[in-house]
Amino acid sequence: MPYSKQICETAANIIKERELRAERELDRRKAEVEKAVPEIAEIYAQVSRTSVELTKVILRRDGNYRENFEKIKKQNLQGQQMISNLLVSHGFPEDYLKVKYFCDLCQDTGYNGVKRCKCYNELLSRLAVEALNSEANMPDCDFEHFSLDYYKESGAEVYRKMSENLGFCKEYAASFSAKSPSLLFIGKTGLGKTHLSLSIAKAAAEKGYSAAYGSLINYLRIIENEHFGRGQDPNSDTMQTLIDADLLVLDDLGSEFRSSFYESTLYNIVNSRMNLGHPTIISTNFSSDELQKNYNDRLISRIFGGYTPIVFLGEDVRMLKHLKGEN
Ligand SMILES: [Zn+2]
Repeated sequence: MPYSKQICETAANIIKERELRAERELDRRKAEVEKAVPEIAEIYAQVSRTSVELTKVILRRDGNYRENFEKIKKQNLQGQQMISNLLVSHGFPEDYLKVKYFCDLCQDTGYNGVKRCKCYNELLSRLAVEALNSEANMPDCDFEHFSLDYYKESGAEVYRKMSENLGFCKEYAASFSAKSPSLLFIGKTGLGKTHLSLSIAKAAAEKGYSAAYGSLINYLRIIENEHFGRGQDPNSDTMQTLIDADLLVLDDLGSEFRSSFYESTLYNIVNSRMNLGHPTIISTNFSSDELQKNYNDRLISRIFGGYTPIVFLGEDVRMLKHLKGEN
């Protein structure tokens, strides 16, 4: 998929930096080892020489090819073994002088042949999601700041249910993967749906997953502008970014006004993510009856059939906080 110029540049810089970092780190470890175990430097130099010779032999492929090849290869392996032994006997890990790549597939070049490596594509997708999130204007929420105290005032049943929801969300976040189930947060406004869905998104992002979060109406507006050529960057494809994200949080389904473009866009996102097996968390103030009344059957059957419903109970927590003079 196309990405904005800025994202492409940032990604290319990060890939280059990864490559340089792997080399720098190796140089640093080499210097450290040579200081602690000077004889290793000599063996290391010999091993490097045999590696070069080995390459030459392979390229020349002359009469004694097989014999020379085996001989030099043996010397090379012996040297490497000596280095490993010396490292271990001096308290270093055995592979301390091997390059440690961020990605072994492409050895941090970002490419496998002419094809972009998986690590490069993941990086582009993560940067696109981050750029989108930075414009989302959503509160910064985590589990630590979610208090059950407010629900006590609504009675034991509400408190029990909300404790259960909190436990479920924490567990969901802890075991999150790009194949986790999709969730539907149902309940009146101000009951903590946004807070808990953002807490999950934050936990997923901390685990290295790309987690896009935003209000549904905001996403639909951005996609609409891009679709009709009014986007800020002709290359950015928000729809695809939302479909590809490991986790997508769509906040406040039901607050958008109805249009056939919005309806088909929403269905496309929900349906495509379901086909990919990627989890989506949708929150809504609508009851299940209201959802059925307001949306077409194919969207409703996707959501009711594929999402785990989590029901939020209680009185408006934001209101209670406000009454108590908290923000
Ligand atoms: Zn790679």
